[in-house]
Amino acid sequence: MSEKNICDICGEYDVLVAGGGLGGLTAANLLSSGGRKVLLAEQHFELGGLAGYFRRKNHIFDVALHGFPIGMKKTLRKYWSKEMADRIIQVKSIRFDNPQFSIDTEFTRDDFTRILVEKFNINRETVDAFYAELGAMNFYDGNNETNRDLFEKYFPRRNDVVRLLMEPISYANGSTLDEPAITYGIVFSNFMSKGVYTFLGGTDLMIKMMKDCLDKNGADYCVRARLEKILISGGKVNGAIVNGKKIKCRAVLSNANLLSTILDFAGEENFSPDFIRQVKKVRLNTSSCQVYIGLKKGKSFDYIGDLLFTSEEPRYDSERLLSAEGKSRTFSVYYPDIRPGADDYTVVASMNAGYGEWAAMSSDKYRTEKKRMEERTLVSLDKYIPGIREKIDHIESATPLTFKRYTMHGGGSSFGTKFEGLNISMKLHEQLSGLFHTGSAGIIMSGWLGAANYGVISANNVDRYLG
Ligand SMILES: Cc1cc2nc3c(=O)[nH]c(=O)nc-3n(C[C@H](O)[C@H](O)[C@H](O)COP(=O)(O)OP(=O)(O)OC[C@H]3O[C@@H](n4cnc5c(N)ncnc54)[C@H](O)[C@@H]3O)c2cc1C
Repeated sequence: MSEKNICDICGEYDVLVAGGGLGGLTAANLLSSGGRKVLLAEQHFELGGLAGYFRRKNHIFDVALHGFPIGMKKTLRKYWSKEMADRIIQVKSIRFDNPQFSIDTEFTRDDFTRILVEKFNINRETVDAFYAELGAMNFYDGNNETNRDLFEKYFPRRNDVVRLLMEPISYANGSTLDEPAITYGIVFSNFMSKGVYTFLGGTDLMIKMMKDCLDKNGADYCVRARLEKILISGGKVNGAIVNGKKIKCRAVLSNANLLSTILDFAGEENFSPDFIRQVKKVRLNTSSCQVYIGLKKGKSFDYIGDLLFTSEEPRYDSERLLSAEGKSRTFSVYYPDIRPGADDYTVVASMNAGYGEWAAMSSDKYRTEKKRMEERTLVSLDKYIPGIREKIDHIESATPLTFKRYTMHGGGSSFGTKFEGLNISMKLHEQLSGLFHTGSAGIIMSGWLGAANYGVISANNVDRYLG
């Protein structure tokens, strides 16, 4: 068993991985499977980070299992196990319901093309050219085009088309039309071209299977173990302080917040002034809110789809989508078959409202506003599940303040940083020998697939450094 108490840790490690989100977990697993001596320290009482779950009464709520691209299957097979990869299944029905259109889609390129041509009357050649441009986008191109420019080029003045193509991404990571088109291109090409997938057995099973792999590969891991300081000598990392205890290690791979890693755990004096100037310009994605709903035992509802992008807003407007007063929300519906043998129905509603809005409230106002968010969610859900109120056994909500409390991400950041953060994250070890970062950064390397794949990239960099 590789789960240990931090008090019992002794000896020297090749690498300390700070944070057990998907980036940190994947890196720890890969490095330990390659024979490196790895200690993973997670400050929370469970691994998984934002790809987590929690229990209330008989319910298990999945925080971020709404869906991910098919690429996750390959990533799990290559860097975790075939058994985990075999549990990736396609989400059957994804619905959009708003005043501009109501459609059902498989979230594949073919289906989006069909919808754009048949329902939105766009030329097939235009759709193909749009997809071709997305497919050709490359992170290293240095293209300054924004999402707004991209959509205006192919679908001028078509707010309805922009809504179809953009709303899922805005819901997921708070992206707006002003983001670089490259972030949309890479996320879209990954996400909206071969369908949306989920993990059969739920997040709890996935984390358990990940722990089994860490055990098998001999990685040590500790929960309730918080990185407080990175120790540096002669311009090189040589250890870390975790829960007040000194851990000797040759490298630190931080899966914690990028800004905290640089400014709090390492200290800005260890980086060039120009680098720190750039670090201070990095913006975080800080707007995720959720409402979790569990049904009374024995209560059920008919199949209404798996993922519902709903809105009462007349038009797509990313500012409104990110505001507490917005009338848009995504429902992820979990039927009992997500956990074979279980009989529980849960619904997780996701919406956006910035950290700043919540942080400015008094505690009374904060409680009232959370209740109001739950109430408004129930009103909206009643349209799809009539009588939902009578069936509910448990309801609670999370704001960016909740995400901050559980993950220690500044601003409750749920999808890491905006685009500019990726370059900072990737260049960290060029600035300070032995310090690496992994996890959601730059929108491109975020979400389950992005974070896990970035874990692989960072693990390879650490491995090269260790020699
Ligand atoms: C509400 C919501 C819904 C989402 N839905 C989806 C979805 O449907 N599909 C999808 O692909 N993605 C989704 N995501 C995004 C996805 O879950 C994240 O991008 C991904 O899980 C982040 O992984 P990460 O490696 O960046 O680490 P994180 O999950 O951010 O984990 C970082 C870990 O580091 C720990 N930590 C922080 N500081 C310290 C410290 N000092 N010492 C020790 N440990 C520390 C934290 O506790 C945490 O466990 C969602 C996110 C949210 C918030």
